[in-house]
Amino acid sequence: MKNYGHFIHGREVPAANGETFPSYAPMTGEILGHAARGTEADVEAAVSSAWKGYEHWVSLPPYEREKILLKCADNVEANYDRLLNLLIDESGSAVMKAKYEVLYTASVLRVAAGEVRRMYADTLPNEKPHRMSMVVREPVGVVLAISPFNAPLVLLAKMIVFPLGAGNAVIAKPSEETPLIAVELAKVMHEAGLPDGVFNVVTGFGAECGAPLAKHPKVNGVALTGSTATGVKIGEIAIQSMKRMQLELGGKNPLLVLNDMDVTKAAEIAAVGAFTHGGQICMSSARILVEAPNGRTFAEALAKKAASLHLGDLRDEKTAYGPLINRRAIDKVIRHVLAAKDGGAEILTGGNVHKGLVFQPTVIYNPPMSGPCWDEETFGPVAMVTEVPSFEEMLAIANESDYGLSAGVLTNDLVRGMTAARRIRCGSVHVGTHSFQSDPMAPIGGYGMSGIGRSGGKYSVEHFTELKWISLELGETPRPF
Ligand code: NAD
Repeated sequence: MKNYGHFIHGREVPAANGETFPSYAPMTGEILGHAARGTEADVEAAVSSAWKGYEHWVSLPPYEREKILLKCADNVEANYDRLLNLLIDESGSAVMKAKYEVLYTASVLRVAAGEVRRMYADTLPNEKPHRMSMVVREPVGVVLAISPFNAPLVLLAKMIVFPLGAGNAVIAKPSEETPLIAVELAKVMHEAGLPDGVFNVVTGFGAECGAPLAKHPKVNGVALTGSTATGVKIGEIAIQSMKRMQLELGGKNPLLVLNDMDVTKAAEIAAVGAFTHGGQICMSSARILVEAPNGRTFAEALAKKAASLHLGDLRDEKTAYGPLINRRAIDKVIRHVLAAKDGGAEILTGGNVHKGLVFQPTVIYNPPMSGPCWDEETFGPVAMVTEVPSFEEMLAIANESDYGLSAGVLTNDLVRGMTAARRIRCGSVHVGTHSFQSDPMAPIGGYGMSGIGRSGGKYSVEHFTELKWISLELGETPRPF
């Protein structure tokens, strides 16, 4: 077991007050290490480091930044085992999900490196004959990235690499459940040549160091991936100093199964949407709406698939998913299952703890269509299946949510598939598959309470850059006085 520091100005440093907190392996309960417990003094050190880092980073030719980000991607791959093992242990990820995260992290770094070359600007036609007008894009300065526990490597990477590519310096505040993997990522990128101060990590708790960072007048932008409740709090703080904000928040995502679909195939696809990482995915297919008359047949096929999932050693390739992150998460899932049962739903399979913090894959048929099990994020391996009489009613139900993150539509009928894609009010709709999809170039984000702004590719770059209008007088313009 080892102590981890914050990562400030290119090296690990203990908290200013010397305090630490443990990071646990959710699968075993073992303490993996102690992380520095950040407070205002550490926030000040990180902000000061980030500004020094920024001055240097922004002055580099863009192609130099591109080269360094590409080296970072190579070094993530070169440190595959180091990152993979810590990720499995600290986040309780099954090996197949953890492998995807490490490789995807290298991939987002390469896409961000490519964006460096695409920070195009404009020249504008003018009303005044002697004026030349240009619009240039400049980094906002220092960007804070506050990340969640569920995909703690790739989601942090996604939040930092695009702002970095655009010339910003970043400070990360990872989840208190998964602080160590963030420090490891910073070290791997620093070893690849990322200059001191460009990527800093302050570990600790939201109220103790996250909020002071979000409030800090010298932090210019905030990216949060987390719950809607946290998004509201950070939004209230960050707007006081007019920070750029990009919030990727919760979801209760619909998966529509139209009646032209083969039911067994639909159930196989839905199982991936609902049970990957034990449902601890913001885009999880949590509400499954099945067009009549296939509701029960589909629900039974999904229950059969769910009951067959292997829940075992995290390093076994056959293991579908591992534990939930902590006891509070298990309690919430149990509360939602009981609410469904009390509302008259049938539990077709699961409904209980499997072992430790691992919850059984659970399929619930005909849940009440209001209350916590239907309206709130469960963030556990629970699929709520409902039969709906018509396509129009499916669209109406899909839109009855405060959230609007992602949706899936299972059909072979392109017209109905694309109609659903246009009419469902959410940030992404995936026709022919489930709701949990990602792509480093795609704009990820949501409508309504699922957030503000989009991350990924050029969309992140646009978000974390300022537009500046520069004009040049090329001749004498008549003066009014
Ligand atoms: P969370 O909101 O509890 O915590 C997220 C981060 O915010 C953590 O680093 C936490 O320390 C910090 N935080 C909490 N309170 C804070 C405060 N007052 N000030 C500053 N920082 C604060 O979320 P979580 O439980 O770690 O993650 C799960 C949530 O994240 C789910 O709601 C899920 O849907 C969401 N999520 C969204 C996306 C997306 O792309 N939309 C992706 C993954 C996860």
